[in-house]
Amino acid sequence: MSKVLQPGDVIGILGGGQLGRMLALAAARLGLRCHVYEPGAGAPAGEVCAELTCAAYDDDRALRAFAASVDVITYEFENIPTSALDVLEQHCPIRPGREALRVSQDRLSEKQFLNGLGLATAPFAAVDALDALHTAVTSIGVPAILKTRRLGYDGKGQVRIDDAGQAAGAFAAMAGAAAILEGFVDFTHEVSVIGARGADGRVACFDPGQNMHRDGILHTTTVPAQLNRAQLTDAVIATGRILNALEYVGVIGVELFVTAQGLIVNEIAPRVHNSGHWTQNGCVVDQFEQHIRAVAGWPLGDGRRHSDIVMTNLLGDDVAQVPDLARDPAHAIHLYGKAEARAGRKMGHVNRWIGAAA
Ligand code: AMP
Repeated sequence: MSKVLQPGDVIGILGGGQLGRMLALAAARLGLRCHVYEPGAGAPAGEVCAELTCAAYDDDRALRAFAASVDVITYEFENIPTSALDVLEQHCPIRPGREALRVSQDRLSEKQFLNGLGLATAPFAAVDALDALHTAVTSIGVPAILKTRRLGYDGKGQVRIDDAGQAAGAFAAMAGAAAILEGFVDFTHEVSVIGARGADGRVACFDPGQNMHRDGILHTTTVPAQLNRAQLTDAVIATGRILNALEYVGVIGVELFVTAQGLIVNEIAPRVHNSGHWTQNGCVVDQFEQHIRAVAGWPLGDGRRHSDIVMTNLLGDDVAQVPDLARDPAHAIHLYGKAEARAGRKMGHVNRWIGAAA
């Protein structure tokens, strides 16, 4: 049985963005300290954590000193270089474990893993050359989306192909990066399940949220999602199977497309997730505390939804609306302390209370 952290023990968090910040705040409420490791300056998590290391992911000395100062390591994003994980792992356990990172860092291995569990995904094919793309477009059909296998998020690194003649241009847009072609899924809406698995193997899922994107970036998450009983069960079972298969410890985000033929898994994120921010005001124990509890070896908390919520991201200049939003007591406002409101940058979010859960 792995170590159970005691008050005063230290959780290391790789990444100092808004997710790291909200994890550190949740840990502080539980009497746990956080040491954040972040290469960039001005990290949102920096102002709320006990300790901050500002160093690169190839700085072995900084990595070793960080690992020696913490009791467990977790992360707020999945694209941590493997070489850094190799160094850290020699000194300290990493939760969720390496398998979750390996699977989710590459869209191809992610889809193969999901299909291996019997979960449906979009049809896909690996594309490492233009002739492979032509073959894939012929077999999968159009419309389709060409995506980089690694390092894509918020719709970045993706090109839609509506007819075969666009293949060469789409391939050029990948700039030599290994890619995957996905058939276009004809979905009615998108939902996500935020699931958690404790060190004791217990699994608990938050109610699915319904997601709306704008320009490839999450705009709103609404709970409850429009799902019938069977779909709801399928969504939760899919998440539980993923958690068990990865022997996962922590919180995961599972994005699903809802289609007339059933649910299709779009992707998994081995961390707390933007579409789980509603839990801060919709549940007694939110996704951030649930994650901290899991990685600290504590039992999972009560994540039942007590309120219906619409979470809206505040991007760039949206943050100027905060004084107005604050006038409505139905709004719970969460800001990330970012100085510069660049276009499209996630500055905060607002959780609007829309009623007590039925
Ligand atoms: P992703 O970065 O893979 O989460 O994609 C961002 C968004 O693009 C998703 O939330 C969907 O709205 C859309 N999208 C991605 N892949 C597909 C697909 N295979 N079929 C239809 N829409 C997709």
